[in-house]
Amino acid sequence: MKIQMVDLKGQYEKIKNEIDAGIQECIDNTAFINGPAVKEFQQDFEEYLDVKHVIPCANGTDALQIAMMALDLKPGDEVLCPAFTYVATAEVIGLLGLKPVMVDVDENTFDIELTNLEKYITPNTKAIVPVHLYGQSADMEKIIAFAEKHNLFVIEDNAQAIGSYYTFSNGIVKKTGTIGHIGCTSFFPSKNLGCYGDGGALMTNDDDLAVKIRMIANHGQQKKYHHKVLGCNSRLDTIQAAVLKVKLKKLDEYSDARNKMATYYDENLVGISELQIPGRVKNSTHVFHQYTVRVKNGKRDQLQQYLAEKNIPSMIYYPLPLYKQEAFQQYVSEGFSLPVTEMLCSEVLSLPLHTEFDQESSDYVISEIKNFFNL
Ligand SMILES: *Cc1c(COP(=O)(O)O)cnc(C)c1O
Repeated sequence: MKIQMVDLKGQYEKIKNEIDAGIQECIDNTAFINGPAVKEFQQDFEEYLDVKHVIPCANGTDALQIAMMALDLKPGDEVLCPAFTYVATAEVIGLLGLKPVMVDVDENTFDIELTNLEKYITPNTKAIVPVHLYGQSADMEKIIAFAEKHNLFVIEDNAQAIGSYYTFSNGIVKKTGTIGHIGCTSFFPSKNLGCYGDGGALMTNDDDLAVKIRMIANHGQQKKYHHKVLGCNSRLDTIQAAVLKVKLKKLDEYSDARNKMATYYDENLVGISELQIPGRVKNSTHVFHQYTVRVKNGKRDQLQQYLAEKNIPSMIYYPLPLYKQEAFQQYVSEGFSLPVTEMLCSEVLSLPLHTEFDQESSDYVISEIKNFFNL
């Protein structure tokens, strides 16, 4: 049996005709840069997310950087972000001369932990970047309230949770990425909405911010060869937009397939005492970008090794807290440590789960996990 973490080939084969036609059309029109598919995808995506503006760009990291540029954050400003996330979240903060202030996460939901955040606030704190890790929303109601209290911008890193939605206590439902001032996402091939190369987008309901984001992503110009501000060159390729147009129509179906397999894992793994199935955020749906368990008693690496011997891949997202990365030493004092982040880095294991996953594969993974624990 061949188990994969993702199966982009199997997924492609089912939508081959539409994808191939879309790509061929770009080539026939030689409309490689800002061709019609870019605008069409943008509009489809705005409708899907129920957001006023989508601004496509070159990748998710650029989206985060452009967001912080558009909010006029200045060197020395502090930005709160989780220490347990992909490097891009904090990297762009540092690149712009801002200070990433790394905070801990919740041990059940893996999202930014909110009860202790006040102590990180200084007069320089200007923004917070919640990351909707593994596919479900951070607690946005509390984050928005906290941000309003301290006058912070909220930039959602939605690279892993596209298609999830969050329900506020007043009943209002919003898709992740459309809740804060700006949302950012990535279309990296293995993301839930992935293209066939690099791609990304920013989302906002603020008209003025949308104009600014568009300008920054386009060399700081609104009128060709007239540059108002320093910007960058960050575009979504037409060919990638053509792929995304096709895959967006499938996204909810893909999320359903992921949920089905995740529920099956849950049901079959829930009784294992040394393994903890993923926790759920009460007000959020989950799109299971990753199905991530926690393995107790220092057995994570042994389990991963055992599964590898049975040809079952698994991944550790993420093995190191950001504050232990060499590149981030300038932002933390010696011995800086966050207990939950530290624990998760040694316990998390993401199991194979993708849109083409079948029951036979999950049964095999489950039985080998049980074998490992002598069950
Ligand atoms: C993938 C990812 C990004 C970066 O996206 P790229 O398109 O690879 O630049 C940022 N944040 C998180 C949480 C991610 O998972």
